[in-house]
Amino acid sequence: VDEPTPRVAMEREKLLEEARRELQASGQDVKKGVSLVVIGHVDAGKSTLMGRLLYELGRVNEKSRHANERESSRAGKSSFSWAWELDGTKEERERGITMDIAMQSLSTAHRQITILDAPGHKDFIPNMISGASQADCALLVVDATTGEFEAGFERGGQTREHLVLVRSLGVSQVVVAVNKLDQVNWEQARYEEVREHLKIFFGQSGFQSSKTSFVPVSAMLGVNLVERKSPEASFLDQWYRGPTLVDLLDKLEPPVRDIESPLRLPISNVFKGQSSGICVTGRICGGTVQVGERLRVLPGDETAVVKSIDLDERSVSWAAAGSNVTLYLTAIDPIHLNIGSVLCPLNDLVPLAICFNARIIVFDTQLPIISGASVELFHHSRDVPATISKLIANLDRATGSVTKKNPRVLTKGTSAEIEITLRGDGPGGVAKPIPIEPFAVNKDMGRFLLRRGGETIAAGIALEIRH
Ligand code: GDP
Repeated sequence: VDEPTPRVAMEREKLLEEARRELQASGQDVKKGVSLVVIGHVDAGKSTLMGRLLYELGRVNEKSRHANERESSRAGKSSFSWAWELDGTKEERERGITMDIAMQSLSTAHRQITILDAPGHKDFIPNMISGASQADCALLVVDATTGEFEAGFERGGQTREHLVLVRSLGVSQVVVAVNKLDQVNWEQARYEEVREHLKIFFGQSGFQSSKTSFVPVSAMLGVNLVERKSPEASFLDQWYRGPTLVDLLDKLEPPVRDIESPLRLPISNVFKGQSSGICVTGRICGGTVQVGERLRVLPGDETAVVKSIDLDERSVSWAAAGSNVTLYLTAIDPIHLNIGSVLCPLNDLVPLAICFNARIIVFDTQLPIISGASVELFHHSRDVPATISKLIANLDRATGSVTKKNPRVLTKGTSAEIEITLRGDGPGGVAKPIPIEPFAVNKDMGRFLLRRGGETIAAGIALEIRH
């Protein structure tokens, strides 16, 4: 399949100049883009909250239609709110309607927010990892109902696990929606209690308090999501004068954009459309990509040409690091495009590894880690079987200095340098290399998680690629 190149790519220098200029200007007239992963215990109200938020935003847009024609037509075009509304029943969701990380966007006064949906079911953690590895920020939804917050927060609850995972994947900003306050008579004391518990946990798990914020809401009644004007809001009005959820989302810090480094675009999803050809989605972890550019797909020997780029439901001629994009590709057979593959420039390839050294932090796991342990390695949207082939050293968690060489086991809470070797699938299977880079070269390309038996046992960063 060799179709003509749709548009000639700019010289790299020219593109970089344009990108630098535009990114500097953004914040004045262009809305800053951030991406958000929605996390929290099952039944906390994540779907209800997102559905209601979009509905409310849509209503606000409706009201200001004449003031801002463009905005409302964009909101009207998005089928997102109705998708969420229709997506109401648990059964439907469990059958997989929101199982894939669906990329959608919403627009606040100063931010264009890409939403990476993360369903709360326990088995869906691998999907959440994929979502969180593409996110700048997390929206944590907790259920304030007596007993329910506690159930979600204690061992076995997903509140803690999700927070630890997103932090390990590099997400440092969290907005907490303390939900279902209608269920506790809008009691300020209950809100404060939930907030205090979480604040302590944030401190313990490495979040800065300046980057975490809290907001009391009722997702079901639509109170304090966009505004606080409904009759139900009068109870909250008696003690709360702070921001609404949207006020907080509007202040999220945009990602640092490393546009000068070579393009790294790990594929999180592949869609094989009929008329529009093949498209892939993912977050740009470094560099820039433009229409007309020929890219290498790794692993493998194939290349593809970028036919068009969608960014927040708009067609653009280029996009830069930090953006979640959809690329329409041509001049490639779809069988060569897989979730987890990385797109990069022809002359600057991402290294492929079967064996690498890494630094890990061991989570609260029951079984200690020994040399030879079988694990699953999660890197972006890919998971592969691997072996912890060597325990090199125990490290001091704070300073990173070696405290003990060649330890026999790694227990919970410890930090260590280890060697990881990928395995083939099944007995006698041959290991396939994955594109991964040292954390020192590209932070987003260098992070991973280790899981075993459905439990996340460690988070790590790649130090040195061995082969
Ligand atoms: P998810 O699993 O986190 O997506 O949770 P859902 O959005 O499916 O909500 C779980 C249940 O909580 C549903 O029955 C919702 O109707 C209910 N719910 C969600 N938000 C609220 C709220 O603000 N107040 C009350 N009373 N119920 C809520």
